Amino acid sequence: MRELSDISIQYVKGVGPTRKRLFMRLGVESVEDLLYFLPFRYEDRRDLIPIAKLEQGKWQSVSARIRGYRSRRSWYTKKHVTELVIEDGTGELFCVWFNQPYLESYFKPGSQIVCYGKVDIYNGRLQMVSPEYEIIERGVDASLSLGRIVPVYPLTKGMRQRFIRKVVMSCIERYRDALRDELPVYLRNKYRLYNIKRSIENIHFPQSFDDQQEALRRISFEEFFFFQVSVLLRRLSITSKKGISHQVTDTQLLEFINSFPFELTGAQKRVISTIRRDMQRATPMLRLLQGDVGSGKTLVAFFGCFLSFLNGHQSCIMAPTEILARQHYDNITHMIADSPMKDMRVALLVSSMRKKQRDSLLEDISVGKIDLLIGTHALINEDVVFKDLSFVVIDEQHKFGVRQRAMLAEKGSNPDILIMTATPIPRTLYMSLYGDLDVSILDELPPGRGKIKTMLFSYEREQEVYSMVKSKVEEGRQAYFIYPIIEGSENLDIKTAQEMFERFKCNEFKGLRLGMVHGKMKRSEIDKVMSEFKTGNIDILIATTVLEVGIDVVNASVMVIEHAERFGLSQLHQLRGRIGRGGADGYCFLLANPSTEEAEQRLEAIVSTNDGFKIAQQDLMIRGPGRYFGRHQHGLNELKVVNTSTEIDILETARKEAIALVEDDPKLCKGYNKRIREVIRRRYPTYLAMVSAG
Ligand code: ADP
Ligand code: MG
Repeated sequence: MRELSDISIQYVKGVGPTRKRLFMRLGVESVEDLLYFLPFRYEDRRDLIPIAKLEQGKWQSVSARIRGYRSRRSWYTKKHVTELVIEDGTGELFCVWFNQPYLESYFKPGSQIVCYGKVDIYNGRLQMVSPEYEIIERGVDASLSLGRIVPVYPLTKGMRQRFIRKVVMSCIERYRDALRDELPVYLRNKYRLYNIKRSIENIHFPQSFDDQQEALRRISFEEFFFFQVSVLLRRLSITSKKGISHQVTDTQLLEFINSFPFELTGAQKRVISTIRRDMQRATPMLRLLQGDVGSGKTLVAFFGCFLSFLNGHQSCIMAPTEILARQHYDNITHMIADSPMKDMRVALLVSSMRKKQRDSLLEDISVGKIDLLIGTHALINEDVVFKDLSFVVIDEQHKFGVRQRAMLAEKGSNPDILIMTATPIPRTLYMSLYGDLDVSILDELPPGRGKIKTMLFSYEREQEVYSMVKSKVEEGRQAYFIYPIIEGSENLDIKTAQEMFERFKCNEFKGLRLGMVHGKMKRSEIDKVMSEFKTGNIDILIATTVLEVGIDVVNASVMVIEHAERFGLSQLHQLRGRIGRGGADGYCFLLANPSTEEAEQRLEAIVSTNDGFKIAQQDLMIRGPGRYFGRHQHGLNELKVVNTSTEIDILETARKEAIALVEDDPKLCKGYNKRIREVIRRRYPTYLAMVSAG
């Protein structure tokens, strides 16, 4: 029997080569993918309610005949309104949709329709606003959409619920007996889990909501169990090797700490001593360092580089963008000048370097003339060969994949690894999802930083905001204006950096010194403007998000983010982290007209807290794990079923069992465990590739 993951979705009844493409857009390629493609909600259509018995305020389903429809424009909101009247012999119901004129072509008087929505009374008549609906075509079997608990799937353009339900059902019917129960029997018994066949049936077409819950519990448990086993094996493959033991005396440690013009925060000292302990051990370190913007991660990471140097080895720092790599480089060269670390040879490697310069740098690295190499993903390149790499720092981990992380580490012989992230991962998640990393948190900002006050304004009040900025600038502060785009696009009615730069020069900020930086400018041009800003020769800097990880300017304590609704939550937080670096309080003005609920939530969150961890938690809730972490770059994306709303106890139990299994049989060679190894090889190939490579 072929594995269900090897059978293309194309061969499922009703799909074929053209519709296969629709499924692929949903990430569904194989029969297995489809069986595990879960509804995102269910509608209880077991009870179809006669219109006369509908109850205001309840979510209910009706089955009725279309009597007619009409469209109009609301005189009040100017929205296009489609009104449908349906009747079932007991009464009539109005269904209303806004701004969806194309709907009309679907509705033919006389056809049967099922509507599901919240019952309302408006102007004395019964109505549902934007109900879910399904037209029941004559001669078409509607039994999957009626008289039962009906699954609702995420769709892509060109696909209807009815169609996907049918395909899922025929897939279940055809392949149900080929489903193999891969979860070991002892676990199934211990936690009283449904078998796989019953689970798959009930996750799509549940007999009852209890059945659906049980099915979900079983499927999440299974997925997470196997995922955790793979993660634990990967960790083992790294930590069971012999690494490099780095030695450092107390005096050297003190010298390091005392070389800075400021006092290290308690959190920095704590994490530094953890890293010292880890790096002294002969087993490789694998640690995640989380800390909000400005918490001083670079210094902590640099301590590891210094240890590596003291022991005669090399280290490297990989950052996701050139600007960030340069910032680390500037930061570190500045730190080591006139310090006990001044003999360290630090270099920067970025893809924009000239060939000649690059070749000679590569030569220096390979013979050991460079102690610390800082760069972008250019570091992963084959031609970068270290003489003796013992410590690797990866900044902004979610931007790099597991694979890239491993490729860099392979340039040394089991080096210590530190991964840094400024987007904190909520505790519940990292406990479960980063099972392979130890975690340290910098939960303290250096003292003397001003507070940042964040305020939200609608566009009617833009002049008010501009004049507040003006008065702050006249007090001697500098300000940033951030725009989502550089130049105009005909389809978008939004302000752009270019346009506002011109406008401000002649109007609102006439007489002040303005500068602009954006992503289409050359690096050298950006640098020039930034250094003018830094020295105080520019009062107001107009910018796009190139600034996100830009240079710190202490005197710049005012920021205006225009069209703030277009930025992600973490991005807004990163941006405003650029102000309040000096002693003065920072002012962050957000100008926005949010048009979706999600945007409103984001803006509310950013205004209500300065705490990066809370922001991260919110961001994750609002966007969901997939979009939060970016596609394919994170463990979560390898999980189809488990998401942030999955109950934490299921995850913890599955993880506990995975730990027990791997402790007992790390090679997975006993009895049934061989089968587990097979499952992991199939489901998480990159993970296992790394394990076997080791
Ligand atoms: P992040 O965690 O965002 O990467 P950085 O490491 O870039 O933060 O540090 C931000 C700034 O704070 C740098 O200019 C750095 O020199 C400075 N800094 C780091 N630690 C301290 C400290 N303990 N006291 C004062 N300033 C510090
Ligand atoms: Mg940083």
